[in-house]
Amino acid sequence: MSAPAPTMKPWIDAIHPYVAGKAKLGDTPIVAKLSSNENPFGPSPHAIAAMQAVVADGHRYPDPAATALRAALAEKHGLDADRIVCGTGSDELLHLLAGAFASVGDEVLYARHSFIVYELAARRVGATPVVAPDDDYACDVDAMLAAVTPRTRLVYLANPNNPTGTQISGAEVRRLHAGLPADCLFAVDGAYAEFAEGDYVDGLDLAREFPNVVALRTFSKLHGLAAQRVGWAYGAPHVIDALNRIRGPFNVTTTGQAGAIAALGDNDWADMVLRHTAQWRHWMTSEIAALGNAGLRAIPSAANFVLIEFPETGPVTAAAANDALLADGIIARYLAVQAMPRCLRVSVGTEAETRAAMASLRRFVERATGSAGNKTASA
Ligand SMILES: *Cc1c(COP(=O)(O)O)cnc(C)c1O
Repeated sequence: MSAPAPTMKPWIDAIHPYVAGKAKLGDTPIVAKLSSNENPFGPSPHAIAAMQAVVADGHRYPDPAATALRAALAEKHGLDADRIVCGTGSDELLHLLAGAFASVGDEVLYARHSFIVYELAARRVGATPVVAPDDDYACDVDAMLAAVTPRTRLVYLANPNNPTGTQISGAEVRRLHAGLPADCLFAVDGAYAEFAEGDYVDGLDLAREFPNVVALRTFSKLHGLAAQRVGWAYGAPHVIDALNRIRGPFNVTTTGQAGAIAALGDNDWADMVLRHTAQWRHWMTSEIAALGNAGLRAIPSAANFVLIEFPETGPVTAAAANDALLADGIIARYLAVQAMPRCLRVSVGTEAETRAAMASLRRFVERATGSAGNKTASA
């Protein structure tokens, strides 16, 4: 007879543990880590100085209300500071939204190929994840609306989305929102909002307009503060109140708060990163297009990375490309772990890193297809 043991809840048992982007390569020296959409230049020098200045306060608990950071965010974006809550990355806030607004028997809706945390967040609270079909890797608003049921409590949309990089237009986001029942919370995840291009509606604007919209932002991507874990949400008072009830009381560190405030004040750094990202994202996209003969396709991206689709079979698969890049010290994100075995996601790095990644990819394709002559479209 076996002794009784603690049993995890069945909905926890159903979770596949998150697999982070690779950070190490055994003996091969790392040439470029392009697996987690990090800012390749790091934080603003002002943010580094601000963080260093508070390290000696490490024995004191941080401000539980992140008062100065919320004030800086309110000032910068023209928001009501009382309607902002900060989190241990926006990751924490995505989980807290599910915890506060969904439970066993409820449905949490998002598009296929959305950010992986949405599924984890739904499952963690015992809610049922509902996945709407995508439209060539992008959110399909009609499919989303068709998947809404009376049990839908929470809808997540990342725009631009990770891991696909796709952006849907302002009109489409508004149409999705307009089709949701008023008692369904619409979480607009703007982790890459700063990188968006063209026709775009900001989640913050929607959240200003509608009480069932909550906008999420992070300091991890553009601002290069991923290690500090600082995110924030803006929404109606009752939504923010719910998140405040269940968040960790000291959920944002003192260094994180200080670094984030300084990062917000350094527009030059942010502009430099944005210009660089746009330039090299476009360059990567055209480099991948030049390998179109071999069946590679760049999914149009509005973020700081590009998703590459490979043929399903043959010599030029995503798995083989990933191995070839790794052998060259280049860490991309192979998305088999997210049910996308045909896809590799490559973050925009520094110029040298980005060039090294595309050179490695080209060498692989030429080797695999046995044709160094496939260079026609390349310059
Ligand atoms: C990176 C990312 C986040 C969360 O980042 P944090 O570091 O937890 O703030 C949220 N949503 C998307 C779509 C992301 O790619």
